Amino acid sequence: MMGKWSKRTQGVHGGARRSQYGELSEALFLTQGFDYPSAGAAEARFLEAGPDEFIYARYGNPTMAMFEDRLAAIEGAEAGFATASGMAAVNGALMALVRSGDRVVAARALFGSCLYILEEILPRFGVEVVFVDGTDLDQWRDAITPGTRAVFFETVSNPTLEVIDIAAVAALAHAAGALVIVDNVFATPVFSRAIEQGADLVVYSTTKHVDGQGRCLGGMILGPRDMVRGPVETYMKHTGGAISPFNAWVMLKGLETLDLRVRAQAASARAIAAALEGDPRLSRVIYPGLPSHPQHALFPEGGTVLAVELAGGKDAAFALLDRLDIWKISNNLGDAKSIATHPATTTHQRLPEDRKAALGISPGLLRLSVGLEDPGDLISDLKSALDAG
Ligand SMILES: *Cc1c(COP(=O)(O)O)cnc(C)c1O
Repeated sequence: MMGKWSKRTQGVHGGARRSQYGELSEALFLTQGFDYPSAGAAEARFLEAGPDEFIYARYGNPTMAMFEDRLAAIEGAEAGFATASGMAAVNGALMALVRSGDRVVAARALFGSCLYILEEILPRFGVEVVFVDGTDLDQWRDAITPGTRAVFFETVSNPTLEVIDIAAVAALAHAAGALVIVDNVFATPVFSRAIEQGADLVVYSTTKHVDGQGRCLGGMILGPRDMVRGPVETYMKHTGGAISPFNAWVMLKGLETLDLRVRAQAASARAIAAALEGDPRLSRVIYPGLPSHPQHALFPEGGTVLAVELAGGKDAAFALLDRLDIWKISNNLGDAKSIATHPATTTHQRLPEDRKAALGISPGLLRLSVGLEDPGDLISDLKSALDAG
């Protein structure tokens, strides 16, 4: 019934399940187990559980199912499996579908933990992983050989905000029989068109915009029902990566305000990027929503994160961070609180210098995750910190 309404309405109502009390706000079912009405009912449920029948919270429970169904409805996916963190989702999607002897092609610009799974874990089990520059379609074309099992990339890369052409990469992957698995955190479910553009599985760290208030870890693997309820769920339920019911409830309620928050944060990010572009103390302002961004056409909404490069390098970047008042020095993103991060010394500290340089993670680069404060205040805070330098 709810399926005909828009993403924004789905965010408020999608997936709701009500108990016999008809509660308006979705219940937190803080239970790992279920009381079967009879031995025969337990047997039947273990044989095949219906959509509203639960066995054990490592497999799912009503609050977790509401969160899965609501985010799937927003994303336009058939099904979702909610995970303990974004990394449990990335690991689960890959480990559930890839086996020894397979080839995986991935974009090189990846979140550090994603890189660890692709570079260290998969090869340990005999999976060949090949890295390409995600914005260079010729490299994808050369690397995706027939029989490649999967391609993996962040649709908007962290922290340099390169936007990958999902439709073009998916066309190459599907022609070779490969699955397309995307980490879609920076695009957010609000702006995502990943499935219509050809992604098979869409993975989120819901720790970011879905919670949006920096409280809980969570993640989600979204995709076709046969894949999510099949190999993905089987892998996740037996390896213990499910989300906790409490975290699922926080995320479920976060989805009600996701559309409003993300649109407000993106509008502020655009205003901040426009106010900073051209400032002589900055050698680069990177924001997909600016017409100057090389892949602007692929992500005109721009998202909630921008990056700036201080012409004065690390000293100037540190001085700016230390003078900020509203902006917090931290490493979350998508939060209601605006956050400034120096990737070269924090999130990407462990990368060797030559790889940082190849990925554009220069000593002067700062990632700015825009929150829900007054955008005028956020701009003044940045400008006065720059002026004081
Ligand atoms: C944060 C993040 C992750 C990991 O998510 P967690 O919830 O911290 O495990 C994966 N990919 C991207 C792009 C992220 O930003």
